[in-house]
Amino acid sequence: MEYNSNNVFAKMLRGEIAVNKIYEDDYALAFYDIAPKAKIHALVISKAMVVDFADFIEHSNAAEIEGYMRAIVRTAEILGVVEDGYRLVFNSGKNSGQEVPHLHAHILGGEKLPTAHL
Ligand code: AMP
Repeated sequence: MEYNSNNVFAKMLRGEIAVNKIYEDDYALAFYDIAPKAKIHALVISKAMVVDFADFIEHSNAAEIEGYMRAIVRTAEILGVVEDGYRLVFNSGKNSGQEVPHLHAHILGGEKLPTAHL
């Protein structure tokens, strides 16, 4: 799928939509999900204009991939979920139900999570 910059996360990165920010660096922006599916539910979006994980890996260099991954861990640390554990989810494509076509990781935690497919 070709990247389309009309999506809501691209608008957040351009400052066109307000963000409840948790963390930001050169590679990523993290904020709370508007419709939380767990006690703690954050999203870490890439600053690369890519649709999903495969698109990201194909179009990013090693520093960019590392930077994004580190931003996810940094966000989990700020949220205080590392010790008790959390779930990291990347929805990709229609079978996953991906709604927003801009790379994002879901961090879910703060409580014991239901098993759901894993
Ligand atoms: P996905 O189904 O993986 O594409 O997840 C998209 C997520 O973005 C959903 O969990 C939505 O609740 C969340 N979302 C959509 N719009 C916003 C927004 N304006 N602010 C925060 N989260 C949002």
